[in-house]
Amino acid sequence: STTTQHYDAIKYKTPTGSELTCKGWIQEAALRMLLNNLNPDVAERPDDLIVYGGRGKAARNFEALDNIIAALKVLENDESLLIQSGKPVGILKTHKDAPRVLISNSQLVPNWANWKHFDELEKKGLMMYGQMTAGSWIYIGSQGIVQGTYETYAAIADRHFSQASSNAQQPGTHHSPLTIHAGGTLKGTLNVTAGLGGMGGAQPLAITMNEGVALIAEVEEWRIDKRIETKYLDEKYTSIDEAIDKAQVYKAQGTAKSIGVLCNAVHLLQRLIERNIIPDTLTDQTSAHDPLIGYVPHTLTNEQANILRTQNPTEYLERSYESMYLHVQLMLQLMDQGAITFDYGNNIRARAFEFENRQTQADSQKPIVDSKEPLPTTHYRLSANNFPTGRCFSFPGFVPAYIRPLFCEGKGPFRWAALSGDANDIAVTDELIMNMFPENKGMIRWMKMAQEKIAFQGLPARICWLGQGEREKAGLAFNELVRTGKVKAPIVIGRDHLDTGSVASPNRETESMLDGSDAVADWPILNALVNTAGGASWVSLHHGGGVGMGYSIHAGMVIVADGTDDAEARLKRVLRNDPGMGVIRHADAGYELAQETAKAHNLNILDRI
Ligand code: NAD
Repeated sequence: STTTQHYDAIKYKTPTGSELTCKGWIQEAALRMLLNNLNPDVAERPDDLIVYGGRGKAARNFEALDNIIAALKVLENDESLLIQSGKPVGILKTHKDAPRVLISNSQLVPNWANWKHFDELEKKGLMMYGQMTAGSWIYIGSQGIVQGTYETYAAIADRHFSQASSNAQQPGTHHSPLTIHAGGTLKGTLNVTAGLGGMGGAQPLAITMNEGVALIAEVEEWRIDKRIETKYLDEKYTSIDEAIDKAQVYKAQGTAKSIGVLCNAVHLLQRLIERNIIPDTLTDQTSAHDPLIGYVPHTLTNEQANILRTQNPTEYLERSYESMYLHVQLMLQLMDQGAITFDYGNNIRARAFEFENRQTQADSQKPIVDSKEPLPTTHYRLSANNFPTGRCFSFPGFVPAYIRPLFCEGKGPFRWAALSGDANDIAVTDELIMNMFPENKGMIRWMKMAQEKIAFQGLPARICWLGQGEREKAGLAFNELVRTGKVKAPIVIGRDHLDTGSVASPNRETESMLDGSDAVADWPILNALVNTAGGASWVSLHHGGGVGMGYSIHAGMVIVADGTDDAEARLKRVLRNDPGMGVIRHADAGYELAQETAKAHNLNILDRI
């Protein structure tokens, strides 16, 4: 076999231009987006097929990747390719309007749905972690999350740092940040977080776009360098104190700058506390959803972590859990002293909670880490026993705090990519979107900033949160651009699984639902089914994205605008039904804004039967 075991830049180069290498544009789009996900400019670790988010992969192994590519090339326009956790398992006859690819990633029967069982299966080559957009082939680099992060910080600025916010609102009472901007700014504020990975890498840019100072801990130097190269981050420090000093200077000057500091998040927070410096905002985007592969314990150097992870995963996990527990406790200390603190969707609160429960159950008085010393540790020592219990969930998640109202209006991270590879095609779509929705001031502000500040990674792409009605209009207009030759090749349209109707994730997207339906996972299943029925180009159903095994079920969809009448009919259905599912889900849970949105858009929510 010609299968290689590492990323081969020539073999896996994304085709661009207007010539087909497959038997239709939908198959071609799937091929290009799969390869784009793995493009080294896009993926975090292409040699491991890892796209982002801990170990979120696009294909199970290189053999599976080669087989997917081969299958997409022979796939007919009335067939569907089946992908089971990153491996192609069959091609079945369907029909022209059916999805060309159907994907299921990382699904486990609920009683087995934990990392331990997943790890065993992964070791045997039977499974792959698909994260959200990694295994569903619609990752577009850090841009995919910039707008959401930018809007979250804009919402924080509006709520806590504007004149209108002088009688400080609580998280969760805020109206849609994408439609209302109260003129808040992060100018002169210190915003502390950690993790400069695929998604976390968007934080510094999102903060400086809101005029704030970002101070971000990251344990891997190459990640800091990568963010500087791609213009997401401004400066790098290796000394914690120097980084803090510089951040303080920028804060005092009101200069919008971002600083990456090469250290563990726990050490940065500990030092801030020692120096009595309270951040204005505080969150975290280390890969805490994956305690083994994603999170690096503060008692290990990065190198030690890499060794221990393979040599003694059990001890690694113990250290990782204790570290995440301390991390949350330090966040709580800073919150108690005034830092606006929130969980940024990595499930770190649940990890701390799991640790605390295990500790209590084991009635352990001695800290796990102090009891064994096979490896040298850093000089920072913290004891897990020094903190009050029962507080792990005392700060809110970002969805109930800032994003839920958007979901009620069917708004979410709509995105598209130019299959031509030509940046001008995206410029054409940008103009179209801005002309189409002139009333959406927040969106226009975002588009202008994105055009100026965002460097494309891989295929030129754009993210733009659009809601019910808007997505459908945009999709149909893109189809016209392709039909009339205003862009050079078809446009592929998709979204994150982190969306209004496509996810059940009780510690994140569905945290604190009005009716308590946080853990009900019928909604993402219905979402995948309705998008399949409507004729999306590929549909995916995943488990464990964002927050890890056992904590979420979510669905993705991608649809190609190739300028045909068939595409037009499919776009009309899919881009109405997909966000519509979210509006229905929130209306069903009792959100008035969702009920109003459903009425305004004639979504039949069966409330009068
Ligand atoms: P990633 O794995 O690409 O990056 C994580 C980064 O954290 C890595 O660079 C790693 O070196 C660093 N890190 C790990 N432990 C650390 C520690 N103790 N101190 C400092 N740095 C540490 O993951 P990603 O794609 O950036 O996602 C990060 C997390 O955010 C994941 O848990 C993901 O599920 C979650 N997420 C949130 C959203 C959202 O909208 N809020 C979206 C996507 C992902």
